[in-house]
Amino acid sequence: MHPDSDVAILGGGCAGLSLAMRLAESGAKGPKVVVLEERALYVPDRTWCFWADDDTRLRHLAQHRWSSLAVADCQTRVTVDCRAVPYQMIPSDLFYAAAVRAIAQTPRIELALNETVISEPRKEDQRWRIETSTQVRYAKQIIDTRPPPRPERESAILWQSFLGQEVTCETARFDPDCATLMDFSAGCEGTIAFLYLLPFSKQRALIEATVFAPKPLGPSDLAARLEHLVRQQVGGAGFSVLRTEHGTLPMGQATPAPLTDPTYVRVGVARGGVRSASGFAFQRIQRWAEDCAAALMAGLPPKAHAPDPWLLRSMDRLFLRVLRAKPEAAPELFLRLFAIKDSGHMIRFMNDRPTLADYAAIVWALPAGPFLREMTRSLPALSALFPGGRAG
Ligand SMILES: Cc1cc2nc3c(=O)[nH]c(=O)nc-3n(C[C@H](O)[C@H](O)[C@H](O)COP(=O)(O)OP(=O)(O)OC[C@H]3O[C@@H](n4cnc5c(N)ncnc54)[C@H](O)[C@@H]3O)c2cc1C
Repeated sequence: MHPDSDVAILGGGCAGLSLAMRLAESGAKGPKVVVLEERALYVPDRTWCFWADDDTRLRHLAQHRWSSLAVADCQTRVTVDCRAVPYQMIPSDLFYAAAVRAIAQTPRIELALNETVISEPRKEDQRWRIETSTQVRYAKQIIDTRPPPRPERESAILWQSFLGQEVTCETARFDPDCATLMDFSAGCEGTIAFLYLLPFSKQRALIEATVFAPKPLGPSDLAARLEHLVRQQVGGAGFSVLRTEHGTLPMGQATPAPLTDPTYVRVGVARGGVRSASGFAFQRIQRWAEDCAAALMAGLPPKAHAPDPWLLRSMDRLFLRVLRAKPEAAPELFLRLFAIKDSGHMIRFMNDRPTLADYAAIVWALPAGPFLREMTRSLPALSALFPGGRAG
């Protein structure tokens, strides 16, 4: 006898657990689900930040809220008032614990920890055969949240790579009301490199070295930069490192083509889960989990991430192409965006919910030249009209 499920979720990270939590809300009703996760134990490995409005999922897990955000370079510092839609942080350990609790209370959902999917699932007699490190399982439908085996380097316009340390200082060093979204002042020539700083109290903060580059970077590529930033931020104060986190996120990937079999979907960060221009994924994953759970509860096939609206996708891709072609312009471009007088425009845009007025405010804030030049490069007919990109 092989264990059989209606739905197998491959990978119990953010996307897999978010969907399982959503399905658990329906109590005893609904499909029989197994979540297969290779980790034996959940540890605090990241924090998730986002702007929370009234219908934001899991807001109750947020541990810190910032009422203002700073973006800076050597000369300028812009502070964005976000009291109306605060920037918030959920520590991963609280999220994992909430998910594990919800699953444990739902007998039809099983979380199988320490169980790695070791080969690609195969369809046999209308069921998927899933070979794991401990057994063979079968399921009618699969939601695959595993990251691709290695970053598909050329598949993104830029990669966001970051290495961070949560530190605690012996003296007060931070302003817990204001997070630093981007500080380019310690940037390196020719790269888009900035500090990201989340102060949790006057003495404790997450300090991150972030780089946008054409290739993903590993922890060793970012270690010296992070060390410099940590020393700069703590000043001469004694400090200890509580934990370290690293990530690489694709920016500007093409929308993944759906698989031909509707009973198998791929989701998560590298499959449309991440917002191209920002790397934010947490709330997008929550929205997907809600839609996918509703489909499964209605007896429909699972859902992949819905593609972003055409205009949002096009603006993100154009912005990333300008950044890639002109990395030295990044501080100015981001400062202009965050300096828009009504901060709501930018926050709704970053939160995937722009109105037409928000799109207009963003286009108005940016210099036309680099964007027109980049557009002429990608449109052969326009290139012929503006050889050498004279449009700017
Ligand atoms: C350090 C870090 C900080 C981030 N901060 C933010 C943030 O502030 N805001 C935001 O919006 N986004 C953030 N992100 C981006 C995004 O929200 C996260 O990456 C999120 O965890 C993505 O969810 P996921 O389910 O796609 O991937 P994951 O959460 O990584 O889940 C994938 C799961 O699959 C499991 N797995 C892999 N292979 C197998 C296998 N063969 N068999 C079984 N299980 C397997 C893994 O163990 C993992 O648990 C951050 C990312 C990182 C890495």
